[in-house]
Order: sequence, then C-alpha cells, then structure tokens
Amino acid sequence: MRMSQVVAPTLREDPAEAEVVSHKLMLRGGYIRKVAAGVYTFLPLGFKVLNKVTNIIREELNRAGAQEVLMPTLLPAELWQETGRWQIYGKELFRIKDRHDREFCLGPTHEECITDLVRNSVKSYKQLPVNLYQIQTKFRDEIRPRFGLMRGREFVMKDAYSFHTSEESLDQEYRKMYDTYCRIFDRLGLKCRVVEADSGLIGGGYSQEFMVLAETGEEEIFHCSHCDYSASRDSAGVGAYKSPGASGQGPGMEEVSTPNVRTVEEVSAFLKIKPSQLIKTLIYETEQGPLAALVRGDHAINEAKLKKVAGVDDLRLANAETIRKVTGAPVGFAGPVGLKGVRIVADNAVELIEAGASGANKADTHLTHIVYGRDYKAEATGDLRYAVHADKCPRCAEGKFEVSRGIEVGHIFKLGTKYSDKMRAVYLDDKNQEKVLIMGCYGIGVSRTVAAAIEQNHDKDGIIWPLPLAPFEVAVVPANTAEKEQVTTAEKLYHDLTAAGFSVLYDDREDRLGVKLKDVDLIGIPYKVIIGKALKEGKVEIKSRRTGETVLTEPASVAAKIGR
Ligand code: ATP
Ligand code: MG
Repeated sequence: MRMSQVVAPTLREDPAEAEVVSHKLMLRGGYIRKVAAGVYTFLPLGFKVLNKVTNIIREELNRAGAQEVLMPTLLPAELWQETGRWQIYGKELFRIKDRHDREFCLGPTHEECITDLVRNSVKSYKQLPVNLYQIQTKFRDEIRPRFGLMRGREFVMKDAYSFHTSEESLDQEYRKMYDTYCRIFDRLGLKCRVVEADSGLIGGGYSQEFMVLAETGEEEIFHCSHCDYSASRDSAGVGAYKSPGASGQGPGMEEVSTPNVRTVEEVSAFLKIKPSQLIKTLIYETEQGPLAALVRGDHAINEAKLKKVAGVDDLRLANAETIRKVTGAPVGFAGPVGLKGVRIVADNAVELIEAGASGANKADTHLTHIVYGRDYKAEATGDLRYAVHADKCPRCAEGKFEVSRGIEVGHIFKLGTKYSDKMRAVYLDDKNQEKVLIMGCYGIGVSRTVAAAIEQNHDKDGIIWPLPLAPFEVAVVPANTAEKEQVTTAEKLYHDLTAAGFSVLYDDREDRLGVKLKDVDLIGIPYKVIIGKALKEGKVEIKSRRTGETVLTEPASVAAKIGR
C-alpha cells in the first residue's frame, strides 16, 4: 500500500480527550476516530489490526472444533424476560421499541439467544457436546465509556457457548477453551496472566479472566509469591491468620467525646491511632433485615464476599434513618459494642485488633481499647474485604500477594444450568429422558485486545506492534524522493517484498525523511527499510522498531534478513 493513498490522518499532538496511551496513539496514528462517546470508526489501519486479531481467534476456535454462527444484534425482550435479565441488566442494556411498540434490545451478550437456538435445534445426546461461537458487535450502555476501544458502548466481541450432557464434558471443553485462549494470546504476541474471577452479570459458577499485563491496566491482579494462585481484585480471597485473636489483656474500654468526628481519617487523627486500629461499622439493609459488617479502617469491604458470608442475596447500604433506628446514633458513630437487634458479621482481620476503636452508638462519641471476644462478638467472621498488597494467599497460606496490573481481554465461565434451567433447554438422553443442558461460555474482547496490545507495546515515539498484529510488517522509506535511484530502488523493494509475501507500506510521500520516519514509528511498523545515502555503496538500512537495531544490507537480501 502506498502511504500517499492510505487514509491515516496522523496527528502531531496528543488529543485532549484521550487519557490512556492506547487511545492517544490510536487517534494520533490515524487508526480510529470517535463518532460518539464510546463509539468509534475503524480507519483502514485500525480495521487491518482488528482483522488480524479476528483471524487468529477464528483459526484457533475452528481448530478447537467450535462452529461459527452469526446471531442478530437486535434481540426480542421476550427471550430476556425468560431469564429475568430484562430487569437485572438495568441501564446497561440498550432498549428500543419497534413501530408496533414491541420491545427489543441491542445484544450485550447472547446467552439467551444461543440457548433458544440450541433448545430448538439440538434434541439428542448424540449431537452433544457442541460449541458455537460468533464474532460480532456488542452494545452496552456503560456508565463511563472511556479509554477509547477499552470500554466502548459499541465493541467487537467473540462469544462462544458450549452445551453438554455432563459436568465432565463441560470441564473438558472449558479446559480446551482455556488452552485455546492461551494459544490465541500467544500467537498475538501478548503477555497474559489468567486469574480467578467473579462471574458478574453473566453469572453461573467458576470463571477465569485472561489479563494482558500492562502497568496502565485498569485491573489489579493479585498473585501469590509462593504458589500459582492468581485472582482479580474482585475475587481474590484473603488467607486468615491462625492466631487465636486479640488477647484482651490490655486496658479496658473507654468512652471518648468526639464531637463531629466521623470519617476514618478524622477519627484516627483525633484519637491519634492508626486507621488499622479502627473498626469500621457499616450498616446494610438486606432481605433478612439490617446487618452490621465490620472491617478494619484501612480495609475496603467487598460486598460480594459479604453476601456470601452473611448468606444474603440483596444488600444495600442503609440510609441515615435506618442507621439511627439500628444504632440509636447519627451516621458516623456506629460500632459493634452493645449493638442489639441486628446481625453482626466481621472480617477476619477485625478479630486480631488488640486495642480497637469504633463509634459508641451515641452521637459525638467513640469507644477506645475495645477487643473482640471481650467487649463484642460477631455472629460470623470470614473474608469480607478486598485483598491488598502483602495479604496472605488463601490457597497455600505460605505466600503473600504481589500486585500487578492488567487489562481483561477474555473471560471463560462454567455456567452450569443457570440459563438452560430457566429457559427449559433440554435434550433427550440415551433412555429417552429429558435432561437439562449444561453450559459454558467464553468471551474475548476483540476490539479491547487491540487497545491492550498497545498498552503493553509502545514507547515515547508511538506503537510497537507485535509482528502478528501490525497493519503492515515492513515500511519502505526512500530518504529523498528527489534522488531518482533511491525512488527506483524503493519501488522495486516494495514490489519484491510484496511478492515475497510481506505486507508492505511504501512511504512514497515527498516529505522530509524525519517526518516520514516519525509517522512510521508512530504507526508502529515493526521494520523500516530506509533507502538513503548508503545506496551509493549498494546498501539499504533495515531498522527494527522494537530494538532500534539497524543493519546495512543489499536490497536483494532484505527479505531474507527480515525473515519471519
Ligand atoms: P468489564 O468487567 O471490563 O466490564 P465484563 O465482565 O463486563 O468486563 P464480559 O461480559 O465477560 O465483560 O465480556 C467479555 C469480554 O468483552 C471482556 O473480557 C472484555 O474483554 C470485553 N468487554 C466487556 N465490556 C467491554 C466494553 N465496554 N468495551 C470493550 N470491550 C469490552
Ligand atoms: Mg462490564
């Protein structure tokens, strides 16, 4: 392709709207343009990269025996009502009405649609297991669409769904998809880590996420320094210490007047204690009545964990009125001592606090030197909080957490019968009995993967594409288009390299060499062949974008030198 013809409007300056490097570089490199918040056009270079990703994904899924389908984007409400997700999905679902006032949504994911297809098309155990996938545009009205392709409202996803007659069969396919994903990200040239994950709105049982490692990643990844446990922040368990808890040998409880002192920062500064000595007492409303949850002042509560430990389904922070009713005090003065008529659950770390402080359930008053077991007790203790750096690994209980950052590009789930039960998706077994299908589902954020690749591979000059993703593998750049010999050599190289099977960007523009090289580096082409002064000695220069390494060689051996 000739650079003079490519619609790749490069920009010198960082666009003000872009916060993260992949977004900046995709705009500057002429890869994408914004149409609306979270909605983008892929320009020729961007579309080429997107297609490289899709091709590798398609090849590997086909190799794994999955079958490609294409479901509609426009989905009728009735299907979503069968599983209750028409309500649960809330505002993230783009909802529309047709001319007859019938309700539809734009698909954010396709569990309902595929389950409907399979319940009508696959009848016998003899046709199972089956894995169907599609590569398609998804729609989610995200609260904060941002970071360019990273969190769009319209984005490309690969979603696969498998159907089984047994858990063993699901396990086998899940494992196969796990391996397939490893191959895909390996072929894309991306460094990944697989983490245990929370199942979110898709739900079901076990799930794992594939994270592209990048310092700029949105997600924190917790991995053990000793074993191979790795988990996302949402799902990382925290190992409990075996210690018997606080001794209770210290001085007794004391009441302290703390007028208008409410937050963790205010209370710890006022009482001259560390936030880790404070017992934060959060009052929730649940379907089983009010609930008090205790975590250390320096820890953050994880409501998904709290739900599990407390055994509740529905949880929301209580309003000021309920807090007053439950504690007898205004907001900011709740504490576990003397709290009556409310269930109390505590994080494991709370039990260990030697001389704690908390609200006294009385306006403008706190208690100090309080000790678990001696002064108050919880109905249950457990893991209620988000993990932090150096927390104990819950699996081996030997290692400590190290934290790195990443971008979630893939998510695999064992769904079980979550959808098939509700949608009555059954097959006939070998005894002609109806049985409910067991399901798995497997997603890859295709457009997000493009952005993640840039987050992992860039420098101050621009993108450094891994070879399998680059829109072009080689750029041929004549230094001075006024020199006829340089142009003739460049044209010949362009044709020869193309004929040898390389994808080549020929920078035929009449600009200065510096300008051309800046653009080619910004765009991130892995190899540049520069035809300049050395041509007098019959040599051209090959320069690697990643290492900066250069070699001088005869034009005829460029293809061999670049290799693949
Ligand atoms: P997130 O936690 O980032 O919102 P999710 O858990 O909602 O992701 P899934 O429903 O598992 O995502 O979707 C499968 C994949 O689609 C994700 O792993 C991610 O790579 C991609 N994805 C999800 N939401 C978006 C989005 N708004 N823009 C681009 N890609 C997305
Ligand atoms: Mg989401």
